[in-house]
Amino acid sequence: MAEKRDYYEVLGIDKNASEDEIKKAYRKMAIKYHPDRNPNNKEAEEKFKEAAEAYEVLHDPQKRQQYDQFGFNGPQGGFGGFGSGGMDMDDIFSMFGDIFGGHGAGFGGFGGFGGSQEGGRKRTYRGSDLRLKVRLSLQDVASGVTKKFKVRKDVVCSHCHGTGAEGNATPETCPTCHGAGMVNRTVRSVFGMMTTQSECPTCHGEGTIIKNKCKVCGGTGTVKGEEVVEINIPAGVEEGMVINVNGKGNAGPRNGINGDIQVIVEEEPNDTFVRDHQDVIYNLLLDFPTATLGGSVEIPTIDNKRVRMKVEPGTQPGKSVRLRGKGLPAVQGYGRGMGDLIVNMSVYVPKTLSKEERNAIESLKGSNNFEGDSNTKRSIFNKFKNYFN
Ligand SMILES: [Zn+2]
Ligand SMILES: [Zn+2]
Repeated sequence: MAEKRDYYEVLGIDKNASEDEIKKAYRKMAIKYHPDRNPNNKEAEEKFKEAAEAYEVLHDPQKRQQYDQFGFNGPQGGFGGFGSGGMDMDDIFSMFGDIFGGHGAGFGGFGGFGGSQEGGRKRTYRGSDLRLKVRLSLQDVASGVTKKFKVRKDVVCSHCHGTGAEGNATPETCPTCHGAGMVNRTVRSVFGMMTTQSECPTCHGEGTIIKNKCKVCGGTGTVKGEEVVEINIPAGVEEGMVINVNGKGNAGPRNGINGDIQVIVEEEPNDTFVRDHQDVIYNLLLDFPTATLGGSVEIPTIDNKRVRMKVEPGTQPGKSVRLRGKGLPAVQGYGRGMGDLIVNMSVYVPKTLSKEERNAIESLKGSNNFEGDSNTKRSIFNKFKNYFN
């Protein structure tokens, strides 16, 4: 099966194209490959559908943003199903009535398509994308990290330098289309005689042909190889995020455009902290005297340092303290500057006691101070109530 082409490439537009440019580019494609102009031309029909699919995604800002970030297979199921599911022509017409001006009107409304104003655009191949997984520790996430991967992929054939031609033979201009990649055909239609353009059947739109194909790669210009790729992972990423590394995927056939690498983030579990987006939670077990008398304790931080934290006298189990700015950074500006380290406190009640300790504790029994005032009782009651609601 043919590799799915990048939507921007399909429409021949820039990644930053405006909505208007997308619309114009699609309209151009739709006219060029319109089935009325290309009767019984399977290839044109495919192109027509391909362009429709690209437009369907790119003209919708939300889908476009998702596509930019995740490519064809976003976490929400992606866009792949759209094209491969076989969108039929009626769907395309009904979906893009604004472009076509309604099915019945066909494309007559556009007028002036007799010439070959869009000829000469040669085909460029694009290598496919690769996917990698990366496992990150919380420390990696906190600081950002550069990881090296040895990647098996299509690389440029060194024998022919990617041209696909053997020896010093340069690709020759296609004799059928004289390099244009397109051929004109005059057909009779309901609009009268009409000159249409379609992809050159000899060179398949490339404009050149290779008579003497490279013996190593067989003419594709790529071979299987390995490359060590360094990937910068920004700080603050989260499980399931995808980092797109432009141009590091499979080499494009015949010195075409390289595919991308999509790196999927996985987080290693951490024994000390629990992550909550940008915040990090630490469960602190206080000893009974410190909770009662107050004091100071050491708290670990994600950058492997420790900070001192003051414990108020009379600290109750369930109290949390937020250490501002000791959490995780935002991913490239998406989010607040720095998350917090949240310290959740519980109090350890001893299970075994020495004789002296037992005597000391027993002497405290019956003291009002150890019974808990009504406010504390109420707040604990409310805490539990909230748990079960
Ligand atoms: Zn070669
Ligand atoms: Zn040709």
